[in-house]
Amino acid sequence: MKKINISRQNIKKCIAKPHFQVFLASFSICLLLFFIISKQSGSNIPPKIQDAFDPIISTSNSVNKNIRPISSVNGIFDGMFSNTKEYALNVKTGDSIASMLSNIGVGYTDILEVSKSINPVFKLSDLRPDTDKLIVRVKPLNDSDEKAKVKLISLEIVKSPIYRIISTKTDDGFKTVESKSNINSELVRGEGIIEKGTSLTQVAVSQGIPYNVIDKFYEIFSFDVDFERDIYPGDKFQVMYEQLYSDNGEYLGSGEVIFASLYLNSRHNEFRLFRYKNEKGVVGYYDENGKGASKTLKKTPINGARISSKYGNRKHPVLGYSKAHKGVDFAAPTGTPIPAAGSGKVVFRGWINGYGNYIKIRHNGTYSTAYAHMSRFKPDVKVGTQVKQGQIIGYVGSTGLSTGPHLHYEIIKDGIHVNPLSVKLPSIQNLSGNEIAKFTSLRDKINIQFVVLDKNFSQFANLIDIKSIDVELLK
Ligand SMILES: [Zn+2]
Repeated sequence: MKKINISRQNIKKCIAKPHFQVFLASFSICLLLFFIISKQSGSNIPPKIQDAFDPIISTSNSVNKNIRPISSVNGIFDGMFSNTKEYALNVKTGDSIASMLSNIGVGYTDILEVSKSINPVFKLSDLRPDTDKLIVRVKPLNDSDEKAKVKLISLEIVKSPIYRIISTKTDDGFKTVESKSNINSELVRGEGIIEKGTSLTQVAVSQGIPYNVIDKFYEIFSFDVDFERDIYPGDKFQVMYEQLYSDNGEYLGSGEVIFASLYLNSRHNEFRLFRYKNEKGVVGYYDENGKGASKTLKKTPINGARISSKYGNRKHPVLGYSKAHKGVDFAAPTGTPIPAAGSGKVVFRGWINGYGNYIKIRHNGTYSTAYAHMSRFKPDVKVGTQVKQGQIIGYVGSTGLSTGPHLHYEIIKDGIHVNPLSVKLPSIQNLSGNEIAKFTSLRDKINIQFVVLDKNFSQFANLIDIKSIDVELLK
């Protein structure tokens, strides 16, 4: 047996031999074929870029790896081994197209020319940090009189997975075009049963339901259900939501929740809510009878926060003696945004002994709400400010008599404190007259669509015209 020594010299000798050249040539052809096939079968967007836009995994997009060649294969049509390099660059605060191109060795002539070409289509100052990306294709340059290391072949400004501006070098300089795609949606069904020791979120995630659909689900039921206290093993949920795709089939993330249901054993009740856009163009969720799900006020302003102290008599944690607790405490980290529980006018913003930083909002002739122990107020929310339900008014803190960061939340009805968790609140929107008929027809179609999406019923799918849902009524 001959021992093979791999050294630089051996490799050099090898290259000089004809059989190695034949091998190299056939290897190159294989490589070329592979690239052409993979280019045809997939979308024309590099996989790294697709990942970066996937809302579920976008957080893992590392800033440190900001400048990295994502492939060197796109230059394949410019000639074999042309060394074309492709970079995917995340735009950061302070970046400009010029500085980003300069960082990878593009010379000022190319920068000037490409900027001039892009300008009529896209204002360079509209480049947004953290969301926009650049895809840059370059070729190495050996003889340059302006310190340029590479020649710019093309530049793509990726504004979103469905909108990009593409500038390509041609014989007559750079040519810039916009590329827009439609958003196409597909309805998906999800469901689960809460088991002992699992939360609704855990079950939903295990069923493949995206996080922002779960958030929307909580939001839709937040007026009726206290997810900290009302959910028990055996409770069931169902949801139908959109998944969005671009024209070339690239997954863009999840869309709206169209239907959501929750069966609570403790209440012997199933809540079924349907998305509907009313005649005024306002989107809301309604029960089967057209009663609006949203209420004047939210019982729990911070979704998913743990209740650390209930309404009623208790031993005060700081004072040590028994005192009526006129609100509900929600434990949340300092700085957690506090949304207004309902629309209304800010009537107090300031310091109150015991309460610390405190805001009171008057919603109508009957209801007011109050928020205490805030670390700070949102600067644009002042006395007299008209706020909308869900608008951020301040941030969780531990100011005043408090043992740790939490929101102390009060509902005052006709001047008297009531228990936020048990008070019956009026619905904001109920459908009536003509709208009931429109809603009922949509509701029935949504119900049918949901059944059709059940794997066990899919064989009947072609018997029902599932395209008959009027998308306009949902948006
Ligand atoms: Zn409290």
